[in-house]
Amino acid sequence: MKKLALHWQILIGLTLGVVWGFVASSYGLIEFTTDWIKPFGTIFINLLKLIAVPLVFVSLITGVASLSDVSKLSRIGTKTIGLYLMTTVLAVVLGLVIVNVVEPGKAFSPEKREEFKSQFAATTEQRSSAAAAVDQQGPLQALIDIVPDNIFGAMTSNSSMLQVIFFALLFGIALIMIPKDKSSPVNAFFEGVNLVVLKMVDIIMMAAPYGVFALLAGLVVDFAGDDPAAAVELLLVLGYYGIVVTAGLAIMMLVVYPILVTTIGKTKYTDFFKGIFPAQMLALSTSSSAATLPVTMERCEERLGINREITSFVLPLGATINMDGTSLYQSVAAVFIAQAYGMDLDLMTQLGIVMTATLASIGAAAVPGAGVVMLVIVLQQAGIPIEGIALILAPDRILDMFRTVVNVTGDATVAMVVAQTEGQLHPPVLEDVGLHD
Ligand code: ASP
Repeated sequence: MKKLALHWQILIGLTLGVVWGFVASSYGLIEFTTDWIKPFGTIFINLLKLIAVPLVFVSLITGVASLSDVSKLSRIGTKTIGLYLMTTVLAVVLGLVIVNVVEPGKAFSPEKREEFKSQFAATTEQRSSAAAAVDQQGPLQALIDIVPDNIFGAMTSNSSMLQVIFFALLFGIALIMIPKDKSSPVNAFFEGVNLVVLKMVDIIMMAAPYGVFALLAGLVVDFAGDDPAAAVELLLVLGYYGIVVTAGLAIMMLVVYPILVTTIGKTKYTDFFKGIFPAQMLALSTSSSAATLPVTMERCEERLGINREITSFVLPLGATINMDGTSLYQSVAAVFIAQAYGMDLDLMTQLGIVMTATLASIGAAAVPGAGVVMLVIVLQQAGIPIEGIALILAPDRILDMFRTVVNVTGDATVAMVVAQTEGQLHPPVLEDVGLHD
């Protein structure tokens, strides 16, 4: 019998996880799920994170070393950052247009607002103080943070990915500049390590359907507690806002990216979609672009045929700074809160949101819930009450899942576009890699 393709296996794991979560919440199996199922989800995420730093490090070194000259690197870099900025600003503007047209915040009564404020007071406080710590830094702190003072220090934290990227870039550039007879053995070594690490990703992915099941089961149980009906009700109250965010994200996925992939990337969107679907499913279940990164890289390279000199640079950078989903969500959330408080935001304030949401999404870490912390800064700049985030915390975990899918898809789209324009796209024969099953 033909083996079911990985993306189907993951999808089944995901669905069964949600079903199990609701059954467990309804029939008193919460403790069992938390003690015996959820840990496997944590182990799976750990495995993915474990591989992220080594993969970025070796793949970037081999990627840069395969470039014929350094000037090509700056061209790819400029193109990548330009495209990342462009898609992010587009996402923010799209979010602003939809939220201004639909006005979901106007339907939010002042009574409900007070109810939510007291219900989420503690979490609001936590997020605000996390944001205050970020806000107190000087204007060039972000630049300072890119340059590590110790590479081993940088490698011990997944949140220092930009520092690892910086070191690997410098290493790769130096490698091109030394005599060939000296660089060849170093190249060969890293080429070998790179293959080993990619194989490790393959091995870890064999556990993906089970990992995703455990993650989703744990998530639903945490969210629903022993009263699944109340959880669903809570979501419905915020339905309007949630629908606006989701609609914006859907437009990115179904209109903006397909246009870029088909016109500039010159690839059928269905092929692109099938290629990165497992990465999207992981983004959905882990809510972390950083944890998903190894799979995004592997799929883009092996299934979509994007050359490593592009994936190794564009994707890790994208996971860290390019978050279209997060920026769209921040713009919608900010205006939604303002509407709920009866504020009318003028054009200048909304233009300010375009800028702060773009910067805040760049600054957001690629981990669950990072977007809401940075949202506080967007609210502050626009003069919208910060305690308003209490209004959007309830469905945030779910919206975080959706926006992370968009974040990851946006990175892959840009990788595709950059690769095509650089002549670095060599799609494998699709039947050979099982993309048509
Ligand atoms: N969870 C998102 C990511 O990792 C960031 C966020 O919006 O919270 O891409």
